[in-house]
Amino acid sequence: MKPAPFRYARPQSVEEALQILAAHHDEQELKILAGGQSLVPLMNFRLATPDMIIDINGLHELAHLDRRAGWLHIGALIRHSQLGSSPLVRENWPLLAAATEHIGHTQIRNAGTVGGSVAHADPSAELPVVLAALDAEFVVRSTDGSRSIKWIDFFVGPLETSLAPNEMLVEIRVPPPTSHGAGWGFEEFCRRDGDFALAGCATQIAVDPDEICRVASIALLGAGATPIRAVRAEQHLVGELLSDEAIDDAAALAAADSQPSGDMHGDAAYRRELIREMTVRSLQAARTMAKETFEDV
Ligand code: FAD
Repeated sequence: MKPAPFRYARPQSVEEALQILAAHHDEQELKILAGGQSLVPLMNFRLATPDMIIDINGLHELAHLDRRAGWLHIGALIRHSQLGSSPLVRENWPLLAAATEHIGHTQIRNAGTVGGSVAHADPSAELPVVLAALDAEFVVRSTDGSRSIKWIDFFVGPLETSLAPNEMLVEIRVPPPTSHGAGWGFEEFCRRDGDFALAGCATQIAVDPDEICRVASIALLGAGATPIRAVRAEQHLVGELLSDEAIDDAAALAAADSQPSGDMHGDAAYRRELIREMTVRSLQAARTMAKETFEDV
């Protein structure tokens, strides 16, 4: 299939891109083109028929990846492969780096952008879920100014965000990592390597030397209309010994609180069971890693 006809703009600055959005968003459907790995297939199938494409690939000011005051700042145009291979990210936010390895195939990771994945808001995508586990914030801009949106207020539904039609996502900010007693896990289940996952779980924890859980963050993939945090499971773990039994109970709560939809690849009950199992594995991996941080001292 070929896309329906569309007009094409390639701004040279963020300001110019925002001016185009401001000038035309009222009367036309505009779409920002980043890596094109989600938008172009949708256009080719004519599931998306925008009047105008705003290609932001020339906006080098959106291609930064650095640490400021402890926070990780990710420009919207950073590619999945750049994120996953960054020494800064691998050392300090390893959960984020690990998750990128599960996104599609090499070509998709080389072209697809972090901003595109977040703005596309697929509840089966890895990065939105990991960014939910890490309590990320998203900076968006329009000609009226900029605002920062917490992940929970950004993801509204499947492929739906709180971005206004005249706004562009410019940066993703991730809070500073915890060091001692911290561990993470990322587990997902795919029918074939490179496919979108049917279910998954990203966890970030911190424990005391005596294995009492101090922090628990559990985010679920494919568990509802948006990335969701398993809040009851998190509350169940904090202040408790991180035993096998506690992990099993937390995973049961995560599964009970998830709302996966069924399709030809598996019904809701099957996916809920996958979520439970991915949560167990993810928490077990996080616990092992957290314990190792004390052995290294
Ligand atoms: P684009 O396709 O360019 O844009 C996606 C949407 O976001 C569009 O609506 C666009 O207008 C909007 N947008 C983009 N950038 C901005 C911005 N800065 N501000 C506002 N709106 C913006 N993803 C996964 O997570 N896991 C997978 O396993 C996976 N497998 C894939 C397999 C295949 C075969 C393909 C083709 C894709 C796969 N993807 C997967 C999708 C891939 O990760 C995409 O790169 C990502 O979803 C979108 O990023 P993009 O830069 O390509 O965005």
